[in-house]
Amino acid sequence: LYSKSMFHSRAVIEAGDLVISRDNLTSIIITPGEEMHNKFGRYAHVDLIGQKFGTKLHSPPPHAGYIHLLRPTPELWTLSLPHRTQILYLPDISYITMRLGVRVGGKVIEAGTGSGSMTHSLSRTVGPTGQVLSFEYHQPRYEKALEEFKSHGLENVRLQHRNVCKDGFNDASGVEAVFLDLPAPWEAIPHAMKTLRPDIITKICCFSPCLEQVLKTVSTLRSEGFSDIFTQEVLIRTHELVKESDPDHLTSVSSVVDSLKAHEKRKVERRAVQMKTAREKARRQKENRDGVSSSEPGQKRKLEEDKAEGTPSADIDNEEKQQEQVKEYSAWVEPDTQLKNVVLTKPTPEMKGHTSYLTFASLYPEIIRNAIAAQESSKSAVA
Ligand code: SAM
Repeated sequence: LYSKSMFHSRAVIEAGDLVISRDNLTSIIITPGEEMHNKFGRYAHVDLIGQKFGTKLHSPPPHAGYIHLLRPTPELWTLSLPHRTQILYLPDISYITMRLGVRVGGKVIEAGTGSGSMTHSLSRTVGPTGQVLSFEYHQPRYEKALEEFKSHGLENVRLQHRNVCKDGFNDASGVEAVFLDLPAPWEAIPHAMKTLRPDIITKICCFSPCLEQVLKTVSTLRSEGFSDIFTQEVLIRTHELVKESDPDHLTSVSSVVDSLKAHEKRKVERRAVQMKTAREKARRQKENRDGVSSSEPGQKRKLEEDKAEGTPSADIDNEEKQQEQVKEYSAWVEPDTQLKNVVLTKPTPEMKGHTSYLTFASLYPEIIRNAIAAQESSKSAVA
């Protein structure tokens, strides 16, 4: 039923393989007789058979252009997949996977499946000895995902068509981690608890774009007995590389120290100007309020006295801080150490990338065992 797995390590492209073109991030399944035609050229699929993954392939004349033929990975699939919903991207996926402790051979629940971006990563992480139980209630999305997982050979993914908030997770059991990307995860949490292993600490993560959703999720997690509840947001901060050809390239540690000193000095100077302007403004306002003018001789003298006294302590603090910082920089560097061949980076101040808040929590075995015992005693009471 399943095609061969898309996560293989073969070096050479065969018919039926999924290949990703790096240049326009599109995927194709190599089908003899078919052609790929885009602004990078025209390629008959048969011409790709026998090429090594990673090859830069030039289009046959008269078309100019080339493509890079890449072996699929979950990362590339996330960038090239057809979107049927909003999807998870790698910064969130990798963080969630790490925090949930998803491991080779593990059993994990995911709901909803959506476009299958997260599913592909989970499938690779748990590997052939693990299992991903994925749930989707939207019929066309469920069918499309089913077809896709089969054609990608994701044999360790069991996809079910089910409303998990209303009907729970069917017969799922022995699960170590649950990931919920749903509009109302708090409705699915009591059902998810029943699937978790009672012999280890298990984990849950709920992915929600709004804080209102987070609050509902947190209060349900609390009332159901989860611990270690915390919410985080993954943001992206890029680092710019300082290139050697740059006129500002810093070639020695002493030049780094000099540049830090100059930066600190500029900051202190700016702050001093700001404080001076603020003082002048406050003085003018006071004069207007009191109806006095600084041109009156007694008042003028008083203002001058104020000014003489008034080296603001904040300025002194700043200068002292600057000196301390410069001493600190100088203490931990050998001034003549050369930084040649060292790559220097500078973080951009902007942080991008809010997609959602991630709420994590753990469930301790005794809570699950108590819940099972309570369930059994209520059953026997009814009987
Ligand atoms: N994480 C997915 C990915 O990376 O591609 C995207 C998930 S998408 C944002 C949310 C999905 O949850 C939608 O496809 C929606 O149909 C499904 N969904 C919403 N409520 C559901 C429920 N109660 N039971 C099952 N699926 C549900």
